[in-house]
Amino acid sequence: MQFSKYGKQLLVGNGTLQLMEDLGTAHASSEPVLMLGGGNPAHIPEVERHFQNTMRAIVNDDRAFGAMMGDYDGPQGHANFIKTLAASLKKKYRWELGPENIALTNGSQHSFSLLFNALAGEYDDGSYRKILLPMTPEYIGYADIVVQSNVAAGNREASVIEARRPTIERLDNGFFKYHIEFESLYLNESYGAVCVSRPTNPTGNVISDQELEKLIICCRDAGIPLIIDSAYGLPFPNLVFCQARPYWNPDIIMCMSLSKLGLPGARTGIIIAQEEIIALVRGANAVNTLAPGSVGATLATALLKDDSLFTLASNTIQPYYKNRMEKAVVLVKEAMDDLPVLIHQPDGALFLWLWFENLPVSCEHLYEMLKQKGVYVLPGRHFFPGIKGEWQHMHECIRINYAGEDLVVERGVNIIADTVRSIYRR
Ligand code: PLP
Repeated sequence: MQFSKYGKQLLVGNGTLQLMEDLGTAHASSEPVLMLGGGNPAHIPEVERHFQNTMRAIVNDDRAFGAMMGDYDGPQGHANFIKTLAASLKKKYRWELGPENIALTNGSQHSFSLLFNALAGEYDDGSYRKILLPMTPEYIGYADIVVQSNVAAGNREASVIEARRPTIERLDNGFFKYHIEFESLYLNESYGAVCVSRPTNPTGNVISDQELEKLIICCRDAGIPLIIDSAYGLPFPNLVFCQARPYWNPDIIMCMSLSKLGLPGARTGIIIAQEEIIALVRGANAVNTLAPGSVGATLATALLKDDSLFTLASNTIQPYYKNRMEKAVVLVKEAMDDLPVLIHQPDGALFLWLWFENLPVSCEHLYEMLKQKGVYVLPGRHFFPGIKGEWQHMHECIRINYAGEDLVVERGVNIIADTVRSIYRR
């Protein structure tokens, strides 16, 4: 069958597809699988019970249920949720925003797809602009979302994502941390937007307030919008284990999500931005989906109104992941104490990023070896979208998700340790 360039772009394998297929295979498998790949959040019983009770009350209320399931929302998304969220963010952080600054999408992946396609590619004046990732490793899902025709219009050879290597700080006790290399960060009209995830998927890095403030100023001075991907971060779900505060002003496009609260099935993304961007999202939603789904927004409205959304995030969800992270670090240190492994300082999200220095095989090879043993991780190479040239470091890292059951993480880490040990010995 013949397909357009866009169709072909969707058919060829990409990192996101591999990640989601691995998740699907693992869930459907009758064989025991140790799932340390994927980005699935944890099932936290107390949190799920609260969601369930809140949803039950909505379902039992004829009017609320009818509105949630029987009506299309407008293309900007559920008006009541948007109004309630704007009021609570304004009160909590004194941000100068209103409902005109918030739009919903069907998951933040969808937000990135429409923002990247709107900000990168060919502009009216004939210029061609890219999305700059000022520091990699970065989220795999940014890699393949720009429509090929948009790329081809500007430059067939060009990638629409340009990325920079980080500087690496070696810390005590087997940890390290990536930083943005500001010295080489020249921002000019070749970029349509700059994008960072905070906390970062895959590393669990949380760019410090000082670094972020510096980046905000660089972007403002260059007149380039800064997209902050807060899927794991602040204001919620708050999977942040260090001192950090959320930032928003009209030069920033903040992308949030309900997924990592424990609601990935609700497919609800939230964009907070200046009105022109919101108008664009409204238009894209109308064309692509008529309106974003209402289920997640209806539930989240109830959670905002009784104030449980922020308290659950801070008092239950954040401590839960912090505890999981601490356990995972101990497991890795115990299982791999004889191996040349460094752990990225885990300041947030739900991953450990392991760097096996001078690993004799590529991380893709290690991924395949582990898959054969029923252990799913993610090879680090995928998390360097837009990096030019070769860099050995990209082939020496893997990401593991520690949100799963204790026993799964423990057994998985031990198998990874044995496999890596055998590779070094060979
Ligand atoms: N941003 C980051 C950094 C992610 O890791 C993910 C998913 O794992 C997303 C965005 C997209 O999440 P969702 O579409 O479920 O909101």
